[in-house]
Amino acid sequence: MAVDSEHSVEKVNEQFMFLSGCVFPHERTSSVYAFVIDIGDGFILEDQAVLTPRPLRDVERMLGASQRLIQQMHYLGTYNDTDCVLYVIDRREDPGRFVNAFTANLRTLFELWDSDVWLVAGYAWQIFEWGRNFRFCGRCGVETVIVDGERARRCEQCGLVNYPRISPSMIVRVQKGDEILLAKNAQFKRPFYSILAGFMEPGETLYECVTREVCEEVGVKVKNIRYFDSQYWPMSGSLMLGCVADYDSGEIKIDEKEIEHAAWFKADALPTVPSKRSIAGVMIDAFVMRHSNRKPE
Ligand SMILES: [Zn+2]
Repeated sequence: MAVDSEHSVEKVNEQFMFLSGCVFPHERTSSVYAFVIDIGDGFILEDQAVLTPRPLRDVERMLGASQRLIQQMHYLGTYNDTDCVLYVIDRREDPGRFVNAFTANLRTLFELWDSDVWLVAGYAWQIFEWGRNFRFCGRCGVETVIVDGERARRCEQCGLVNYPRISPSMIVRVQKGDEILLAKNAQFKRPFYSILAGFMEPGETLYECVTREVCEEVGVKVKNIRYFDSQYWPMSGSLMLGCVADYDSGEIKIDEKEIEHAAWFKADALPTVPSKRSIAGVMIDAFVMRHSNRKPE
């Protein structure tokens, strides 16, 4: 697979110090990152600004002795050598608890937390989703059980095994000389333009997906597709495979269901674009670095 030469400009999440795991270790760290998710309200936080490691006894005190409250408990792994644990709770079982707590979904936390802890929270959310989406077998409806030592749920009746789901998708920077193709999404009302993205279809290769999605969304043909980098994106449970492609032919003709507006932009005259916390932001920034006089930060 060809790799874009500017790949070395930036690595996405290079310093991310999370090691996933699914079995509680024999020796636990004295403090833990406790991710508490209520089945109805999302993340429950005592302090919305940040999540810091807490002594285990404080976490247990926070959750109380009520075993009814805790629906599931999952070991997630370590972040910066500190154990991470997910507690799935149902506040209806203990309405007096967490009355003053702050609730948030992943998107809200993305705005609040400028840190890799958000990515661990994203992992916690995926494990929570897996736990509730595969609690019952999709084939025969029987309640599933967790497989020892694996992040898997198995149906004892038919043997179907379900792992946490990851959806591959592509994100592509289409470029024409010193111009970049940016689009505003019609479905997500966000105040920025970005590069094109879309989920892969069964049977497609990465490059076939890039060709199809670009053609469907903006009516343009591309060539010289090459791989850039990847990033896991927990809000959609997708592994974003970043590519760069050169414009080949055609005029921009948008799919209005998907795209509100798309245009070619010069590197020194960009609209508002995503931050460099996302692979989209990193890829756009790499283009700007190459085609403008801006100095590296
Ligand atoms: Zn089954």
